[in-house]
Amino acid sequence: MSVKLPIYLDNAATTRTDPRVVEAMLPAFNDVYGNPGSRNHRYGWESEDLVDTARRQVASLIGADRKEVIFTSGSTESNNLAIKGAASMYAKKPAGQTGRGHIITAAHEHKAVLDPCKRLTKEGFDVTILDPPADGVITAAMIKDAMREDTILVTIMWANNEIGTINEVPEIGALCHERGVIFHTDATQWVGKMPTNVSTDNVDLLSLSAHKMYGPMGVGALYVRRRRPRVRLTAMIEGGGQERGMRSGTLNVPGIVGLGKACEICAHEMDSENERLHKLRVKLEQGITGKLDHVQINGHADKRLPHLTNISYGFVEGESMMMAIKEIAVSSGSACTSASLEPSYVLKSLGIGDDLAHSSLRMSLGRWTTEAEIDYVIDKVVVAVKKLRELSPLYDMHNEGIDLSKVQWAAH
Ligand SMILES: *Cc1c(COP(=O)(O)O)cnc(C)c1O
Repeated sequence: MSVKLPIYLDNAATTRTDPRVVEAMLPAFNDVYGNPGSRNHRYGWESEDLVDTARRQVASLIGADRKEVIFTSGSTESNNLAIKGAASMYAKKPAGQTGRGHIITAAHEHKAVLDPCKRLTKEGFDVTILDPPADGVITAAMIKDAMREDTILVTIMWANNEIGTINEVPEIGALCHERGVIFHTDATQWVGKMPTNVSTDNVDLLSLSAHKMYGPMGVGALYVRRRRPRVRLTAMIEGGGQERGMRSGTLNVPGIVGLGKACEICAHEMDSENERLHKLRVKLEQGITGKLDHVQINGHADKRLPHLTNISYGFVEGESMMMAIKEIAVSSGSACTSASLEPSYVLKSLGIGDDLAHSSLRMSLGRWTTEAEIDYVIDKVVVAVKKLRELSPLYDMHNEGIDLSKVQWAAH
């Protein structure tokens, strides 16, 4: 069967905007062009109505009230607002002093969480960065052990963007609520794919992004809990006072309409899509691991997203591997760091060595992935790895029974 090349298996980096989303956005460019902040004419009201519909669609997908949805430019901004905004609001001491409060996060979080945390350490906060276990899953017990008297914020992602593992979010949230600690989760890879309810899942702050769930780039939202507890944030972007003062700036109405529509579609199609993609992912994994030795699937076997797999290939070199499968669009590391030749810090944080981390590929399936594409990918990868190994002196030595870890290599 013929497939269109290159095959797109990088849906964790971004998803194609669903044509139904594009369709829904068009009126917000062509017909309804008022500023939703214009309160005294119909152009403004019509725009505000569109925004309001989208707010309900987002809220409905995550079990929130629409007043709890703050529109942003995406998850990077949502994470910054949540983490810096909460730290500043709940600081135990004023700016300029040390000991302002304790924050807990983990080493395999996205840079859009780690970098704001790093910034806060320079501003007098103490940050504990937990080392994940080899399976990548952060548990409530780990958070409990790290908690201190002065802990003000815990930020742990729902699902990891490189290995797809799922952290114990509802349990961590319950623990935080017991202790009166604010709990933020970067749910960029989770929302729209998996059922979410901020109330029963005990989340106070949640970041989501349209372009990871078949919506447009450059728009997202932050859920901010209004009751039990009422969470307050210091604004990062100040100006016209939009979004209850937490995020000023004229709203991106077309983008917001697209986000809303994307949420609505995900809510309807999530279950059947998951079932379909899970089957394809299992087929992909079994196809590859069944035909190749020295491969490992990274992260917890079951506690992970249905559509994502990260596999390490022993005895092949990462760059040659990428070259050999050029007609498959995948990622080594996340989109943000794969520009550098550094192996993924996420894989390294799980204790995977540099070599194996370097020869790992993330494949993330999506709404338009077909079975014919998966068949093609299995073939391609298996042939490429076998060929590269034929050229690998290390693989030869290994097959001759030489223990590579004991070899004394000449210094360069
Ligand atoms: C993509 C991603 C982000 C960044 O989101 P943008 O909307 O692109 O800013 C943050 N966190 C995770 C886990 C992601 O996958």
